[in-house]
Amino acid sequence: MAPSDPASRAEPPTDRNVKHVVLGDLLFPTWYQSIYPEDLVSKDTDRLYVCRWCFRYSCDSHAYAQHTRLCQHRTTPPGTKVYDHGGYSVWELDGECHKLYAQNLSLFAKLFLDHKSVFFDVVSFLYYLLVFTDPKDPDNYYVLGFFSKEKLSWDANNLACILVFPPYQRKQLGKLLMGVSYKISSWERDSGLIGGPERPLSEMGRRSYTRFWEERIARYLLLQVGKTGEAEAPGSVPLKPKSPKNSKRKQTHELMTVQDIGLATGMLTEDVITALKGLGVVEPVTPAMRRKTRDSAGETGSGEETATVRIRKSKILEWAESHHMALQDPVRNEGFLGKWAPSASVEESDVDSDSEDG
Ligand SMILES: [Zn+2]
Repeated sequence: MAPSDPASRAEPPTDRNVKHVVLGDLLFPTWYQSIYPEDLVSKDTDRLYVCRWCFRYSCDSHAYAQHTRLCQHRTTPPGTKVYDHGGYSVWELDGECHKLYAQNLSLFAKLFLDHKSVFFDVVSFLYYLLVFTDPKDPDNYYVLGFFSKEKLSWDANNLACILVFPPYQRKQLGKLLMGVSYKISSWERDSGLIGGPERPLSEMGRRSYTRFWEERIARYLLLQVGKTGEAEAPGSVPLKPKSPKNSKRKQTHELMTVQDIGLATGMLTEDVITALKGLGVVEPVTPAMRRKTRDSAGETGSGEETATVRIRKSKILEWAESHHMALQDPVRNEGFLGKWAPSASVEESDVDSDSEDG
């Protein structure tokens, strides 16, 4: 799995069966081999025409043009809209109910993913399509990418495969999809499910996720930890440390365990550690201080996840500024619809409801 990125890719392998795709009115090169049936797509296809609404394909431009006039999905994506904010929406579809759609989407996605093994076992997956609808042109929509997720993941994976289609990359849309995947998994069970993407990650996937996790934790630490109860609308918090005069708390650092951060952000311990290292905001706590903290918290655990770390907010702010991180989470709670629509109780219990990254 990988949010792929042309900048970090080696030259595409020359043995790709399809060299270019036409998706709607966009023409762009493919990156990898897919497994389109050879009787329909020859081994040396220069242009494959792919419907931008249902991902049906044809080597024949005439047949393609004919299909696009009749495509059953030309006005609405399949499945159920679960998120809608700022022109971007996410549609959930069950691979079992939309088998052909899911297969065609997977075949198309494989052209841009170097290792993706699930193509025809689509029935055990859910698919989340990222859709953009221009408010000025509400009857038209564009599928920009998607992620898939196993319906039942023994490893608590909240995402199996993610792809933003090449023409739409470098617009932070991968973060939006990752944020939605974490949000949904955190709401799936009352207790909150700790999960992460399916491993192993590709090199590009690892880099994309590391940045996503860093921002997620930075937002959590800046916006949630040590809140004094003063009104703080998410997104309206300036990127400046609070004036000590105005704050009841004068401390400049927080003592926390990696486990606490993981529980609060719905992230695996190993991913929290990766992010904290990347942020460079953690200072080791002296043994005496650690003992004191543990005693007060009644903790007896040991090892990395129960290790107490000292986090300086000023350093997180520095990181956020130097990385041009928006404090506002691109995924908005109020954007979720239907079964995922936030209720008052969910908002109260969802520790990072405002600061979750995406
Ligand atoms: Zn179609």
